[in-house]
Amino acid sequence: MHRRITDKLVIATHNPGKLAEMRELLAPHGVEAVSAGELGLGEPEETGKDFRSNAKIKAIAAAQAAGLPAFADDSGIVVDALDGAPGIYSARWAGPTKDFTAAMTRIERLLQERGATTPDKRRAHFVSALCVAWPDDHIEEVEARVDGTLVWPPRGNAGFGYDPMFQPNGHSRTFGEMESIEKHGLPPLGLGLSHRARAFVKLAEICLDGR
Ligand code: IMP
Repeated sequence: MHRRITDKLVIATHNPGKLAEMRELLAPHGVEAVSAGELGLGEPEETGKDFRSNAKIKAIAAAQAAGLPAFADDSGIVVDALDGAPGIYSARWAGPTKDFTAAMTRIERLLQERGATTPDKRRAHFVSALCVAWPDDHIEEVEARVDGTLVWPPRGNAGFGYDPMFQPNGHSRTFGEMESIEKHGLPPLGLGLSHRARAFVKLAEICLDGR
C-alpha cells in the first residue's frame, strides 16, 4: 500500500534551489516543507552505488533525525559511451568549485577519445531518483529519466550543470536553451520534460492524490 504525504515534510537538502522547487510542488497539496538546513540536520555520506540508494540514504537519515517524514532526491547524467559515467558522480566531476565547463569538457574529451562523434554514439540520459522515508521505516520511491544526445560545443546559458550539452530527444534545443518552465514545469504549465519533473509526477500519483 502506498502512503500519502500529509501536513509536514522535511526536505533533505541544503540546496535552496531544490527546496524552492519542492515547496512549489507541495503547496497546492497543503503540505508544508521544512528543510534539513532549517532544522540543523547534518548531511549523511552518499555511499550508495546508484541514484536510488543515495536518495534513500538521505531520506532515511533525515526522517530518523527529525522524527518526521522526509524527502530526498539524487540525480545525475549517464553517458552510454562512457559506460554510464559520470552517473552518481555527476556533481563531483565539477569539483569543489562546481566548474561544469570543465566537467563538460572532460566528457567531450573522453567521447572524442572513444571516437563518439556521431549522434548515435553520443546518447545520454538524466536520472532523477526521489525517496520519501517515514520515521517508522516506511519508504516510497520513484525514478525517472529523460533521454537525449550530447552536443558540442555546449549551447545556451539557461539552467545549470550539464544542461548546455544535453539535447533531449524530439527537440532541437538543449536544456541550456530552454526556459525553466519548459524544462521543469509540470503540466498544464510546462511539458514535464525533465527527469525531475517526470519523477515528481510519479511521486504525486502515489503520494499526493495524483494532482
Ligand atoms: P545531486 O545534487 O547529488 O543530485 O547532484 C546532481 C548533479 O547532476 C548536479 O550537480 C548536476 O551536475 C547534475 N544534474 C542533475 N540534474 C541536472 C539537470 O537537470 N541539468 C543539468 N545537470 C543536472
